[in-house]
Parts: sequence; C-alpha cells; structure tokens
Amino acid sequence: MLPRQPLCCLPTPVHRLDRLSAELGIDLWIKRDDLTGFAAGGNKGRKLEYLLPAIQAEGATAVVACGSTQSNFIRQLGVACSVIGIRCVAVTMATPYPDGGERPILAKSLAGGNRVINDLAGVEVTEIPDGGWTELELAAKAQAETLRRTGETVYEVPIGGSTGLGAYGFLMAGQELSGQLDGVDAVVTASSSGSTQTGLTAWFAPLGVRVVGISADPEPEIADEMAALSEDLARVSGEPLARQAEDFEFRLDYVGPGYSIPSEAGEAAMRRLLKTEGILLDPVYSAKAFAGLLDLVEQGDVTGRVVFWHTGGTPAAFTY
Ligand SMILES: *Cc1c(COP(=O)(O)O)cnc(C)c1O
Repeated sequence: MLPRQPLCCLPTPVHRLDRLSAELGIDLWIKRDDLTGFAAGGNKGRKLEYLLPAIQAEGATAVVACGSTQSNFIRQLGVACSVIGIRCVAVTMATPYPDGGERPILAKSLAGGNRVINDLAGVEVTEIPDGGWTELELAAKAQAETLRRTGETVYEVPIGGSTGLGAYGFLMAGQELSGQLDGVDAVVTASSSGSTQTGLTAWFAPLGVRVVGISADPEPEIADEMAALSEDLARVSGEPLARQAEDFEFRLDYVGPGYSIPSEAGEAAMRRLLKTEGILLDPVYSAKAFAGLLDLVEQGDVTGRVVFWHTGGTPAAFTY
C-alpha cells in the first residue's frame, strides 16, 4: 500500500441501468466516479489521493500544471493544493491540439464550468493562445523555472496527473469495483492522458475482464504512453504489471472533430443517458466514451455484463 491522502467518497456507487439494459439487450452497469465527491467529483480525485503525499514528501510550496482551460484535472488539483496550503500555478490553452496538427475550430468561449471552481480555489491560471501540446508543456516548464528563481520549491505535475502514482489510484479503483460486482465481461471508459485506462487494465487484464478505452484525443501515440505508464506503475507498486502498447484496447474512432470539441454522436449519447437514466455526462470525455459504448454494443463487439466507468467532468457540461 502506498501513502494515501483521503479526498474522495469511496467506494463510489455502482448500479444497473435497467432501462438502457432492456433497450440495448445487454446487462449494463455504471460506475459512478462522477460522484467521487471531491471538488465536484470526477476521476482525477483518485489519482490525487496518491499524488498529494508525493508532492508533500518533496516539500513543495507550489505545483505547476498545464492543460485545457476546462481541464477537470487542474480544477481538482487546484482545490487539493488549497487544502494542503500550497500554490497551484496552471498554464492553459482553450483547445490544445496534436503537435504539427491543424488548429480545431471551437466557436464558443468556454466560460464558466471548471473556471468558476478554479477562481474560487485561488488557482493561478495563465491562459496562452492555442497551440500544440508540446508548446503548452514547454510554457509550463518555463513557468516552473520562473517560480524556482523566486525561491519556491516546485513540483511539476504531468498532464492529467498521469504518472505511475495516478495509475495506482485506478489499480485500486479496479479492486474496488471487483469487491462490488462479480461477473463483469467488459469495462468501458473514456481515455485521454492514459492513467485511468492503465490502472484499470493492470487490475482487470489478469482477471480476464476487457478494458476498452475510448479516446478523447486523435492520438494513437497514447497507447505507447500507456505502456510507459504501466512500467512506472510497476515500479511504484512493486508488482510486475508492465504491459505493451498492443495490450491496451484503445479506440480512436469516437473523437469526432477533435479534443475538447463536442461530437454529434457524443451529444446524442449525452441526451440518451440523461433522458433514460437521469445521468449527466460531459461533452469532452464521457459523452464520447458513452457514444463509443453504444456503437460497440450495436456492432456486437461488446456483450454480456458491461460496466460504463463514468469519469465525471460534469462542470464542463455548463460551458458549451
Ligand atoms: C481526465 C479525464 C478523463 C481521462 O482520464 P485519463 O486518466 O486522463 O486518461 C476522462 N474523463 C474525464 C471527465 C476526465 O476529466
């Protein structure tokens, strides 16, 4: 067991979706990580429970992070930093895109949502013009150096909190689900910076349970990043869990127009889950993942007892 700072209301509920199960002809369940409870919920709380002790062990006085303007990670990290009394400095872009790729078009300004919570918690945000992810990471690095020169002890947190420790939070989350529900055939989750899928795969693959990650980004390289993360997970957890890129079921077919740009199928999936079961998804991650689940069920690719892992993100539903 690694040092853990309790933040979330765990275990999160898991329950059956009776109406959608009947409509789809499968045994569909949902794992409610939208209800982790910390700072408006979502999957990043589980990672932060293991990241915070590491940040404190380094004696950090400030963390530096980067992500999109509506990053759910920055929101939850920012609040976690306020809880332990250190600064959270974030560099953001409205819609970062793949290096060398084309700039996506987003007609709206993305006000409100996670930004409201960032403001309330005192996160120090610098928003820079849109560009590639590497440009964003370099801007955060420069920010960290500036802070070091002023005497701060800085901890740089990778995008989405995706480190071995972040993945460990989801290894433990897999164990949590196994204690709640038997006979699962497949888990379907949104996937982006990779530690959610890496941790869940580390837990479920040895049990013969499929973990299908539906990507929110148009980037096949993420499978390699998950392989690297699983090595880091093996190192921090001391268990031989490392996996190769091809061991991850990582689907790129449901991204739509781009990262952080809503898709038509995602919006339809959002409406369908809300209107049948009363559960709200977010447009950037979980709606696209649920659209992927619906399509994979229709194709007969996913059958039996299926768990949709609701990763949260609901504050972003109020920005688009
Ligand atoms: C960050 C995030 C994801 C993706 O999780 P990763 O561990 O980054 O792959 C999925 N859904 C929501 C709502 C998120 O905020």
